[in-house]
Amino acid sequence: MPKYDYLIVGSGLFGATFAHLATRRGLRCLVIDKRPHAGGNVYQDTIEGIAVHTYGAHIFHTSDRTVWDFVCGLTPFNRFTNAPVANFKGRLFNLPFNMNTFHQLWGVTTPAEAEAEIERQKAEAVARLEGRQPTNLEEQALTLVGRDIYEILIKEYTEKQWGRPCTALPAFIIRRLPVRLVYDNNYFNNLYQGIPTEGYNALIDRLLEGSDVQLATDFFESPYHDWRATARQLVYTGPLDRYFNYDLGRLDWRTVTFRTRVEDTPNYQGNAVVNYTSAEVPYTRVIEHKHFTCFGSEVYANPRTVVSEEYSAEYHEGAEPYYPVNDARNDALAAAYRERAEREPDVVFGGRLAQYRYYDMAPVIAEAMHRFAELHPDCATTNI
Ligand code: FAD
Ligand code: UDP
Repeated sequence: MPKYDYLIVGSGLFGATFAHLATRRGLRCLVIDKRPHAGGNVYQDTIEGIAVHTYGAHIFHTSDRTVWDFVCGLTPFNRFTNAPVANFKGRLFNLPFNMNTFHQLWGVTTPAEAEAEIERQKAEAVARLEGRQPTNLEEQALTLVGRDIYEILIKEYTEKQWGRPCTALPAFIIRRLPVRLVYDNNYFNNLYQGIPTEGYNALIDRLLEGSDVQLATDFFESPYHDWRATARQLVYTGPLDRYFNYDLGRLDWRTVTFRTRVEDTPNYQGNAVVNYTSAEVPYTRVIEHKHFTCFGSEVYANPRTVVSEEYSAEYHEGAEPYYPVNDARNDALAAAYRERAEREPDVVFGGRLAQYRYYDMAPVIAEAMHRFAELHPDCATTNI
């Protein structure tokens, strides 16, 4: 009889949420992670007294009341609202694309003027589609917002981030960004948004309460690879292709590296996120971490600040896989691996890596709830 009900590979939000739901029901979980800390990509370091998003800025946003109540029930969240600024060759624009952006680009002041200009700029690309749906990111962007926005704010940024021409990228990536004919710089359309005031590590600690946790343990290089001796079921949140020993070929990922430094000034860029949308600048964005939790004059309480430049690159052995590359080859390969995953009845494949999906945090939590409820139908998700 194995000691645990679940062996959970990966202590990111999927694994930790699943562990939380299971332990609340009296099930025994062992959570392992190959990193020396728990939390996956939401883990934070503290530098100069500032919570630093070690694996990239993480802003929690959702319209799912169940998920929002769930996370707020574990740790308090602040009122942070993401309003990134784009820097193109020294010119600044508000994001997402809204009346402020249109005014900065074209000097228009009313929604009617902005709409007319967008329609004018879209016309050529819309005509070229001859009634069909956009099939790639370039077509999608040109028919959504027109040529100026595509060339100044989208094309070079996207090609830096994904390392592929916009014509070879799926349209859905750009549909993440809102387009609004109102003066509203909130990057997200969701009802709820914020950052945990005690940090994401506190959220992860609460989720993992009651589980046994073993860090710096790679599933494939540990005795747990033979997991049936340890647990009745496996929850796997590592890369999908790795689980099957790359039998069908390797999935492509984008990786990100962060150059983090301390600046001897209390307020370096006046905003949490500044995107550099021109190809001349090698990084995609600069994060100034204190702005996630300090507002107004609070920013000046600490005379220093921590900033991170974010560089996007193709995944190589030894790097961290971050973004799935959802082009035709990879989508087909992932589908073939998913078919094999379905033939593993005692294994739950969950999260960004194991599902090979471009997932935000809240949907990852919702998916963990859903998968747990499927396995334990007696536990209603509304009663999390
Ligand atoms: P992960 O957090 O990646 O956790 C997987 C864990 O599995 C890792 O800890 C890993 O070490 C472990 N693991 C892998 N293989 C093994 C193995 N062989 N043995 C043991 N352990 C293993 N979402 C938002 O909602 N808002 C944002 O602002 C946002 N910003 C982002 C910025 C960046 C740069 C990136 C890359 C992602 C961002 N996301 C954001 C998405 C967010 O990071 C994910 O949705 C979420 O962290 C996924 O959780 P997960 O548990 O699926 O994966
Ligand atoms: N994007 C862009 N310009 C920007 C910001 C985003 O063209 O200034 C595009 C880019 O293709 C990116 C997509 O919009 O991949 C989604 O952006 P988001 O900020 O949601 O990406 P993430 O935070 O996941 O990196």
